[in-house]
Amino acid sequence: MKIALLTRNPKLYSHQRIIETAQARGHEIVPVDYLRCYMNITSRKPELRYMGEKLEGFDAVIPRIAASHTFYGLAVLRQFEMMGVFPLNESVAIGRSRDKLRSLQILARDGVGLPITAFANDTTRTDDVIEIVGGAPAVIKLLEGTQGIGVVLSETHNSAKSVIEAFHGADIAILVQEFIKEAEGRDIRVFVVDGKPVAAILRSGAKGDFRSNLHRGGQADKITISRQERAAAVKAARSMGLNVCGVDMLQSSRGPLVMEVNSSPGLEGIEKATGVDVAAAIIQFLEAEARPGRTKTKGK
Ligand code: ADP
Ligand code: GLU
Repeated sequence: MKIALLTRNPKLYSHQRIIETAQARGHEIVPVDYLRCYMNITSRKPELRYMGEKLEGFDAVIPRIAASHTFYGLAVLRQFEMMGVFPLNESVAIGRSRDKLRSLQILARDGVGLPITAFANDTTRTDDVIEIVGGAPAVIKLLEGTQGIGVVLSETHNSAKSVIEAFHGADIAILVQEFIKEAEGRDIRVFVVDGKPVAAILRSGAKGDFRSNLHRGGQADKITISRQERAAAVKAARSMGLNVCGVDMLQSSRGPLVMEVNSSPGLEGIEKATGVDVAAAIIQFLEAEARPGRTKTKGK
């Protein structure tokens, strides 16, 4: 196969692993900085250009689009899809996953277990919003946050209220969520490929931190997940329409609750903790599925 890897930084661990694995399995893989791609979007014969050359002859495309460049990155991915190139994850599915509210609504509609979550556009009914999630303690999250930055635990109703008002005052969109105390600062990341959990880790926060993000000094350990957790991860991936994703869940007293489904999950933490060759699972999926014109949505 000839594979395009859409990335701004081919040197990252995840991208290096994808590149070396594809090459070891006999494929050609070309890193493409999607911000440097340009295209005639009205042409009836869609094409893409990169550094003065046409991007042609690709069988598959692996999008690793940064959250901050979702808009342009997805336009480039759609153009590949219109050219009939098979995407690891489709642009439509990535677009859904990048919108936290939309993702939670889709998952809720499909019956995936979620922490009770509320959202409002103003502060006229903040008491009510806190009440919806069962009162304090409550978790307040920036809609645009990543890596645990902008996730706040408010112990009391009054502190929750002032945090919510502060964010609204600064015109920052947030959601309010029930605090899952029994998760004890840990969460589970399940890496799903083609509807199958291929690896899972338990992430534990730094001491005293309720957030388990590795970027916040957390630790990752291999874990054998329960049947219920496997089922939740698979259901979340299917609901989002993602062939490859990282499903983040909290272990609650009422079973696994999905927090987020990541469409460009990192490989480093999970491969190092579990010893699973996640990169190979990804390339094998493309070997099995990448056929011209096989993309479902073509960006629609
Ligand atoms: P980000 O997308 O920025 O990583 P998350 O929503 O994943 O933010 O939250 C960061 C961490 O905070 C999670 O990994 C988890 O450990 C903790 N956390 C998030 N939401 C809750 C919650 N509702 N109850 C308990 N802990 C939570
Ligand atoms: N790679 C990051 C992670 O594994 C997130 C990248 C993204 O989807 O924006 O959590």
